[in-house]
Amino acid sequence: MPELPEVETVRRSLIDKIVGQRIRSLRVGDFPGVLAGDRAEDVLARIAGRVVRGIRRRAKYLIIDLDDDTAIVVHLRMTGRLSAVPHEEPPLRFERLAIELANGLDLRFSDQRKFGRVIHVHGDDLDRLDQRLGREPLERGFSAAWLQERLQRRTGKIKAVLLDQGLIGGLGNIYVDESLFRAGIHPERRANTLTPEEVRRLHRAVRAVLRAAVDGRGTTFSSFEDAEGNRGGYGGALRVYGHGGKSPCPQCGTLLERTVVGGRGTSFCPRCQPVVDAVIADRAGSTE
Ligand SMILES: [Zn+2]
Repeated sequence: MPELPEVETVRRSLIDKIVGQRIRSLRVGDFPGVLAGDRAEDVLARIAGRVVRGIRRRAKYLIIDLDDDTAIVVHLRMTGRLSAVPHEEPPLRFERLAIELANGLDLRFSDQRKFGRVIHVHGDDLDRLDQRLGREPLERGFSAAWLQERLQRRTGKIKAVLLDQGLIGGLGNIYVDESLFRAGIHPERRANTLTPEEVRRLHRAVRAVLRAAVDGRGTTFSSFEDAEGNRGGYGGALRVYGHGGKSPCPQCGTLLERTVVGGRGTSFCPRCQPVVDAVIADRAGSTE
């Protein structure tokens, strides 16, 4: 599932192809649900003739700003892909929607699992989306002090708390596992039991992992490619994600373990991310 670095990679690869372009038309394929309840002809009537002013990212959302203060919000979810291809090219595999641009390119959305959405919204809808989402982990507002203050109020497992999009926007399973490994923190620690030093390590780890992944153009997994069909370059840099039960820890050589936290497969090193007493007590006494 695309996370912040993958969505950012798609954004960057689309800028030159769509910004400044006038929208000519809209085609919706055999899954009208991609518009989240809107009718294709209504959306077309609203966006035809508008010019793309820019493309932004907020958490895992892409926001394509139009020149009338509306926007097209794209959520890739599990398997969504956004690409710009010449208008005359045949439909992509699992193509759900295409926006025809004046430069002869189509902005096309394909999505095997149909969880992704492309929604035309007004400015106040964007404000509501923005308010629902937590802080951007690569921006200034995401400080160690802020994280410390927030984690103190949370009693959930640290991995589940980091996945909460209302707290931090854009982190997902891959980069949470990588960040916790780098910080040496067990994924089942209760968030409010982290020491200030651990929170500082975690804060640094989240930033370092995300920055490296953005630089590497994201991680390629089964469905992710950027808008040009390039595969992400970060996969080889993953240290624990997906390796639980299969590979030794790259730091200490202990076999990485796999568990499930908050319903998500989780890989960690039992030695570098030690289980503390609180976790043991929790496993013994809690059904959560
Ligand atoms: Zn280790």
